[in-house]
Amino acid sequence: MGIAYFLGCRDCEVFLDLDKFPFVELQKRNLEEFSFSSAWRLFRVLPVGVVEVEEELKWARLGGYSGWVREKISYIERFLSYHQGHTLFIALDRYDLPWDLGEEGFYRWKEVCSSSSSLVEFFGYFLPRNLLEDFGFEVWESVEEFMERQSYAIRSTFEYFREEIWRGYRKWKEGFDSL
Ligand SMILES: [Zn+2]
Repeated sequence: MGIAYFLGCRDCEVFLDLDKFPFVELQKRNLEEFSFSSAWRLFRVLPVGVVEVEEELKWARLGGYSGWVREKISYIERFLSYHQGHTLFIALDRYDLPWDLGEEGFYRWKEVCSSSSSLVEFFGYFLPRNLLEDFGFEVWESVEEFMERQSYAIRSTFEYFREEIWRGYRKWKEGFDSL
């Protein structure tokens, strides 16, 4: 099993999927620390500082990992340098996440690609900002065509949340006053 982590920035509303990244200190800490934030009641997140995450990277580098962990380390480094001074947090996949489809305001979030394998590897393809900014779908029809070419599981998820994804897409494309 194991816990999958996400590293996010609340100011920019973006996140990285870190999968089962070998966090050392974070795993030692009691999960109860992922307490409800009063300003952000729905989601259990752990506010985290750049220094804390950098400390974790030190451990991970010492661990002699190869493959995907090394790759994640480089994406985390980039994320930290880009979001210096911002409000960062760690979230766990065992709780509701603010970017889960159908959550209020899910469409504000964007996934930052954290894998070199391919764009299709990452979940962000249901998120309007990713569809616009990363996939470059300038018109909604392109989103529909893209989804038609995906696996049954992806098509079904898309069908189920189509309306909400479309609304979010329109908000980003036409401005938040349009709907
Ligand atoms: Zn940021």
